[in-house]
Amino acid sequence: MKSQDLTTAYRDPAVARALLRQIETTVRNYRRQMTLMEVCGTHTMAIYQHGIRALLPEQIRLISGPGCPVCVTPVDYVDRAVALARRPGTIITTFGDMVRVPGSSSSLLREQAAGADIRIVYSPLDAIAIAACNPGKEVVFLGVGFETTTPTVAGAVLAAEKQGLTNFSVLGSHKTMPAPMMALTSDPELQVDGYLCPAHVSAIIGADAYRPIVEACRVPCVVTGFEPLDVLRGVLMLARQVVEGRAEVENEYSRVVRPDGNPKARQILETVFEPCDARWRGIGVIPGSGLRIRNSHAAFNAELKLPVEVEEPVEHKGCLCGEILKGKVRPGDCPLFRKICTPEDPVGACMVSSEGTCAAEYKYGNI
Ligand code: SF4
Repeated sequence: MKSQDLTTAYRDPAVARALLRQIETTVRNYRRQMTLMEVCGTHTMAIYQHGIRALLPEQIRLISGPGCPVCVTPVDYVDRAVALARRPGTIITTFGDMVRVPGSSSSLLREQAAGADIRIVYSPLDAIAIAACNPGKEVVFLGVGFETTTPTVAGAVLAAEKQGLTNFSVLGSHKTMPAPMMALTSDPELQVDGYLCPAHVSAIIGADAYRPIVEACRVPCVVTGFEPLDVLRGVLMLARQVVEGRAEVENEYSRVVRPDGNPKARQILETVFEPCDARWRGIGVIPGSGLRIRNSHAAFNAELKLPVEVEEPVEHKGCLCGEILKGKVRPGDCPLFRKICTPEDPVGACMVSSEGTCAAEYKYGNI
């Protein structure tokens, strides 16, 4: 089957209508509203793009969570990247969205306009190639992302080590996924009745990684793919669990995600990285929710290798990204949305990222 046919199979309107009918039947006699959180930014985009929220019965409220890696990267990390970009003889390499995220007083885009050498790459291995071609310069890769991207960053560190490159390092802000879900579950202001668990992350960590949440918090978790029919099936599976009073891990995306994920990718990751506490933009420090480079590979840790003066972090006044990332407010609740904050001139990271909730609502509307 061609890849286009594969996609079409998960967008069939007749199947979507049948799933919606099953969802309606499931919740028909459910007397209160259930809140389901799509944790991952790619799910958020898919939900907005296909207008899924508007199709669901009123008993189901979908809210967006903290699964966009660019959005949750704290302002002091951007400030450090800016400081490194100003360091003579430094090349900053990064995925595209990061250059537009505002720091306290600048952004990488602004530094680039001022003459800093900042290059967009599509893989950490591109950064390795740049380091190999520029032996007189220090090449820093901005390591931002969840378990989906961290194994590739670990692979790049191992490749640099193998090649004997001494001018490559990673400024890390890597995060892991189950920990913030556990933190949000215990937030009394936010009553999440079920989680649509991220697809790509789950392909690495496996569906079983959500068992501690289910066991400790009695919140159903369904690993879900990104196509519209995947999302509808995930909602149906969650709604059934909520209505029946069950709390289990279910896997809608079993064509990709295994119970134990991808052990080989995790092994590469664990060779280079170790767990640490991490600060999430707008949420604060979540114990054990980050990954830092192990001492055995400290030579590739830009924070240790390249000390720089970093300005005092300042959050932008009026930006509600923190509340957006916790699912407590919608973009339209932010007084800056569309007026002062736009994709062309973003105030907060949620408007910058292609997976950000504000960017999704700006592009597709409140549907
Ligand atoms: S609209 Fe802009 S300022 Fe407001 S929460 Fe979203 S990103 Fe932040």
